Amino acid sequence: MGKSKKNQNDLTIRLDGIKESGYHLSCKRNKDWIKNIFSDIKDINFTFIDDISIQIEVFRTGRNVFVSGLLNTTVEINCIKCLGNFGLPVEAEFHYNLCPSDEKELLLEKEINKADLDLFFYQGHIIDIVPLIREQILLHIPLYPLCHETCKGICPQCGSNLNHSLCQCDKEEIAGSKFEILKKLPLK
Ligand SMILES: [Zn+2]
Ligand SMILES: [Zn+2]
Repeated sequence: MGKSKKNQNDLTIRLDGIKESGYHLSCKRNKDWIKNIFSDIKDINFTFIDDISIQIEVFRTGRNVFVSGLLNTTVEINCIKCLGNFGLPVEAEFHYNLCPSDEKELLLEKEINKADLDLFFYQGHIIDIVPLIREQILLHIPLYPLCHETCKGICPQCGSNLNHSLCQCDKEEIAGSKFEILKKLPLK
């Protein structure tokens, strides 16, 4: 990255800036930057607690652009079992094909499957990397996040987090088992 005074929220590459040898970008953005690129999504169930590091390689053939990249960050999210929040590392490796938006109709006529190709469209001469970053983060947040594989969850009776302590309900169970022992004692 040069010393150009770019907008901090901006992660764009000019089409004519992609040389034959490609374009390489390695950068870090802080959590406020990531929060900002998600600011239009109202109901996300996680928060950003760390920087994001982004490494990107861009190649192009004519007007077709290929983007490969790697991103790393950490989000805070609630465990589906114990409901406690925890830091979830998010690491994503990605590959995209980008085509100029004026070719969109043509490609859709050819019934190209967008999902298979990870196809994006760009407008004019500017490639915006932010939508790719957003999609990758959303794709890598699990639907059922678990704080640990062995999370014990919460007690269905009292709601205590069983990872931290046993609850009264468990003690009652122990008391119950004592009662079982009593039952085995010979009767008078
Ligand atoms: Zn948990
Ligand atoms: Zn309980």
